[in-house]
Order: sequence, then C-alpha cells, then structure tokens
Amino acid sequence: MAAPVIPLSPVIREVIEEVMDKKRMREGIDACITRSGDFGSVTEMRLAGIAMVPEARQLMSDRLTAYWDGRRFPVDIVGDYDTREILVGAGFHTAAYCASRVAMGFPKPVVLERGTPEQVGGAFAVSLKPVFRLNSRNRPGTVGLPDQDKALNYLPGGLLQPSMVTSEEYPTNADMAWLIRLTLMQYANVYPGVTVTDIGGGRGDYGARLSTSSGNVAVGRVLDARGTGDEKDSEAGSERMLTFSQLMTRMGTMFPLRGMRQVAVIGSGDSAKCAVESLLGIAPGNSSAIGLDYTDRVDWYTGGQIDGRTCSEFRDNQRGRYIRIAQYLEGNISNPSTRLRVMSTKGYPVPLPDGVIVNERTYDLAVTCTGSERPSLNDSAGFSYFKVQRRQGQGTILAQQAAPVQAYRIGPAAGIEFSEAETAAGVGEIPANRVAMFRLAPRTAALAAMLPGVTGAEEK
Ligand SMILES: Cc1cc2nc3c(=O)[nH]c(=O)nc-3n(C[C@H](O)[C@H](O)[C@H](O)COP(=O)(O)OP(=O)(O)OC[C@H]3O[C@@H](n4cnc5c(N)ncnc54)[C@H](O)[C@@H]3O)c2cc1C
Repeated sequence: MAAPVIPLSPVIREVIEEVMDKKRMREGIDACITRSGDFGSVTEMRLAGIAMVPEARQLMSDRLTAYWDGRRFPVDIVGDYDTREILVGAGFHTAAYCASRVAMGFPKPVVLERGTPEQVGGAFAVSLKPVFRLNSRNRPGTVGLPDQDKALNYLPGGLLQPSMVTSEEYPTNADMAWLIRLTLMQYANVYPGVTVTDIGGGRGDYGARLSTSSGNVAVGRVLDARGTGDEKDSEAGSERMLTFSQLMTRMGTMFPLRGMRQVAVIGSGDSAKCAVESLLGIAPGNSSAIGLDYTDRVDWYTGGQIDGRTCSEFRDNQRGRYIRIAQYLEGNISNPSTRLRVMSTKGYPVPLPDGVIVNERTYDLAVTCTGSERPSLNDSAGFSYFKVQRRQGQGTILAQQAAPVQAYRIGPAAGIEFSEAETAAGVGEIPANRVAMFRLAPRTAALAAMLPGVTGAEEK
C-alpha cells in the first residue's frame, strides 16, 4: 500500500514560507537547492535548509511552542475519543508511532503530555538548546543494529532525520528534539499540560479508560509512551541539588554555572557522564565564559562502577564517546591540574543553606544521576500480562499489552529485554542500549503498522 500524501501542517508550511522570504534565514534553503537531487522531497530539502540556520531553526521551534501553548484538551467531548487512539507522553516513540500510523492511512492520534509546550519532545527536550550529545553515532540511511552499520537515531516516518540536520559524529539533544517536535506537529494532535494518572480497562473487550488531570475519558486505544520513568531524587530540586534533567535545563539558560566552583556528581551511567562533560566545559552550548564561571573541581561519586580513576585507566576502559573526560583525571601530563576525581564510594547528598554536603565534603552543587523509576501512574488495566509479537512464540517482541484491554506500552516504557539476536550482536553488553532508539524504534513502527483501526467492527 502506498503511503497517503498528507498535506503539510499549516504551522510548518507558514514557517517555511516566512523563512524563504527572509534573505539571511533563507541561506540554508538556497544552499540545499544546489543539491536538490540528494533529498527525498522538496519538504525534506527545505526543512534541512532551515535546520542549517540557527535563527530559522529557532523560528520553527518558537512557532511550534506557540501553537501548542494555545491548546486545551477538550476532555468533555467524551464521545469523540472512544474511536480514537491516545498516546501518553510526547517523546520519540510517540512521534514514531503517530508518523507510522498516519502513513498507514489512520487518523492523527491524540497525544497527552504532562510537560509544558517547550517540553514537547520528551527526554531530549529538557532544553531546546544543545546541552548534551547523544551516545549513538550519527549515520546516514535507515535504522538497524550497530553491527549493521545503519542509522542509530533514525525516527521512523519522521519529516527529517538527524543525519540530515548535522554532520557531527553525535547529534545533540536539540537536534533530536527539533525533529521529534516537527514530526509530532505533522502527525499528531498534541495537548501539553495534561497528566495521565490511571490507565484502566474500557467497556467490554475493547477500548480503555484514562484518568487525566483534565478529567476522565473512554478511548479506543491507549499507548503508554512515558519513556524510562521519573528520575529518582527529582523531588530534591533545590538550587543546590539538581537531577540530570534539572541540570540540563539549567545549562540551556544564561550563566548556568555561576558560583559553582566545586561540584559533586552522583551516579555512573551516561547521564552522569554527560553531567561531568557539562561541568568541565566539553558539552555543547553553555551561555557563559570561563573567565566568569569556572568549575575547578568535580568529585564524581560512582559507587565503584567506573573503572578508571586515572587518565590512562579511564581511556582503556570507557567507550569512545566519553574518552575526552579522561584528560581531566589524574595523570594527564599535558594538563597538570586534576579537575576531576573519581570517588569509588556512593554519594549521599544533604542540602545546606548555601550548598550541599556529600559524604562529609561540602560543595556548591550536587547533581544526582541515579537512574529513573516507574512514575506514579495507576495501572488498573494490568500491564504485566502480554508481550505483543508478530507470531505467538516467535518473532520480535514489539510492545507490552494489558490484554484484552486496548492498552499498550511502547518504547522504554515496555521494558523489553534483549533478544538472543541482540545479545549475539553484542548490543546487550552496554546496559544503556536497553532504551536505545535503534532497537526500539523499529518495534514501535511495526506495532503501528500491525494494529487495526479502532473504529467500527472492533467495537462490536
Ligand atoms: C543523556 C541521555 C542520552 C541519551 N542518548 C541516547 C542515544 O544516544 N541513543 C538512544 O537511542 N537513546 C538515547 N537516550 C535514551 C532516549 O532519550 C530515550 O530512550 C527516548 O527518549 C525514549 O523515548 P520515549 O518517547 O519513550 O520517552 P521520552 O522521550 O522520555 O518521553 C516521555 C514523555 O512522557 C511524558 N510523561 C511521563 N509521564 C506522563 C504522564 N503520566 N502523563 C502525561 N505525560 C507523561 C514525559 O513528560 C515525557 O515528555 C538518551 C537519554 C539520555 C537521558
């Protein structure tokens, strides 16, 4: 079946026209026109041109925010929703699902996002500015496992791919957020500021029921795409104790590290590594100057999980993506001041009026990167039952379902274990790959292609 041609969203179309009218902002599109044969469509070419000019990118992002800002979830029109699909969370997997669904000829799903209009985009939209780099390499083409040498950050059905907006080895959060937001604008009806508090069974054998901060609705199908969950210690949130996301949001503002001379980072995963990079000035972005704000010392409480206290040990044991961190550790002869210390213990922060104390040492700031846990959402549908796969007992597991209720979990929210093929390909050796887009995005797109519509016969 050929994918239906969907008219471009008026918001996106108007921004393209406005950019083409402005000499400075148009430079990217003009450059891309000279290579028009390299793009799959005129829209892709124009959006890639917009992505090349920061002011044009910003204009697009601002317009999307302004559009979503004006939207209120009309929960009282209950009758309308029991024939609709609703997704919980406006992140990468929701974008992939909605784009694939519309490509199959189904209506645009409704998306409920608890965050603000700026936070549409999920985990990568902690800031719409570039504040951290991904750990999956940027490659051209379509999605596949790392050993296939295919694209790792591919957004199925996306209007544009990361490989068409940056030539850098690792895209930034802002590159990804921009693409996810564009795709949601095109293929979904997003309502920010709505928190889903319960997913339950619907009437009979079909549908589902949602409780939300805006009221309760009966829906044809619900897809829970809440990502990895809420950060642990997120209630900490004081000026001097931040989670990873809170630090990243702050890194997108002016003078984010003002007065932060000595900082503790707690945790050993990729978020902690990205936090360390930000504090040492080797992450993207940051609106300040070293002459104004300089972190002299970062103590990294890893609980013994990081193998590498010195420059050479760290280089020998860490993935290439994080190798630059090594030069700030003890033993780098070309950089005698040791700004980073790997502490082998776990860190326990306690706030002070003007700082924080971690394991008897005082700091200006502590950043907790201690993982996430399932958010406090009731699950009266009972999600533990069923993993959706192409054929019973065989094939790739795509999602989790609270069968027979039309309620699914997709992406990291589905908690899909590494398969035998993934283990054999070495994907399972890196724990962070559990939530990697390259392994879960094709599953989400396949589910969108597999599920029937939610109108008509299915309700009988
Ligand atoms: C530092 C870092 C680097 C990463 N690098 C990579 C990488 O290189 N490659 C890779 O493949 N993956 C990477 N990831 C993982 C990737 O970000 C996630 O796997 C991906 O964003 C998951 O997408 P999602 O749509 O499932 O969830 P998310 O993007 O987390 O979006 C979930 C959304 O749900 C919303 N939500 C939650 N609860 C509710 C509720 N009750 N009601 C309404 N809305 C709700 C949230 O506000 C959020 O916007 C990285 C993650 C981090 C933090």
